[in-house]
Amino acid sequence: MKSLNFLTNSRSKNRQFAVIGLGRFGRAVCTSLHKMGYEVLGTDIDQKLVTQVLTQKVASHAIQLDSTEPESLKEAGIFEMDTVIVAIGNYLQESIITTLNVKEAGVEQVVAKASSEIHGKVLRRVGADRVVFPEYEAGCALAINLTQPAFLERFELDTENSIVEVLVPEAFHGKTLSQLDLRKCYGVNVLAIGNGEKFITNPNPGQVLKKGLVMVVIGDNKNLQKLPI
Ligand code: ATP
Repeated sequence: MKSLNFLTNSRSKNRQFAVIGLGRFGRAVCTSLHKMGYEVLGTDIDQKLVTQVLTQKVASHAIQLDSTEPESLKEAGIFEMDTVIVAIGNYLQESIITTLNVKEAGVEQVVAKASSEIHGKVLRRVGADRVVFPEYEAGCALAINLTQPAFLERFELDTENSIVEVLVPEAFHGKTLSQLDLRKCYGVNVLAIGNGEKFITNPNPGQVLKKGLVMVVIGDNKNLQKLPI
């Protein structure tokens, strides 16, 4: 799940990203950033994976290098990037040395993939600003999705509070926000209402909810679960 600080930092304009390690995770990060229009440099020690990324056009640039060598990273311009994602999970030594290299060279935001808790601890010790556990996080997300399928999107503000996107439930169809008084009845607030193309933020109390529309709701997780969705 996402953390607000990271999102704020990584959304500023013209950010440049480098992804080190082009396995499934690294390639997925490259593809998503590239689709969102960011400059992404992908690197791997394996030339085949570099060529694949270039052929499939899932990154703006791709270079073959050994990320344990600071000189190679410097030459490739990795140290000038705003954010570097170290997507090497299985090669512990390489992952740790790479994280240390980029952090020591002054890269502002370093995100590192960990394959175990102890690996994560070491990555933090060598300076990683954020450590991700993709398999663990995907497992948690799946469990939430299986138990709360009605949440289209979920953004965790902290361990207790979230912003969720839900389809307007049947029970709310045809009623105004003031009639529903969700703050009083459920302890949640509606931040926006959307029709799939456009959102109205801070909807007024007279806004009528209709089936098929989407509501963006903020609240305590326990209260959000009480919504009749
Ligand atoms: P996943 O598919 O789950 O993302 P994986 O098993 O494909 O993981 P890892 O073993 O975590 O990949 O490694 C990711 C990539 O990192 C591999 O493609 C590997 O070639 C690359 N890699 C390993 N060592 C280095 C290094 N020293 N410099 C650059 N890339 C490296």
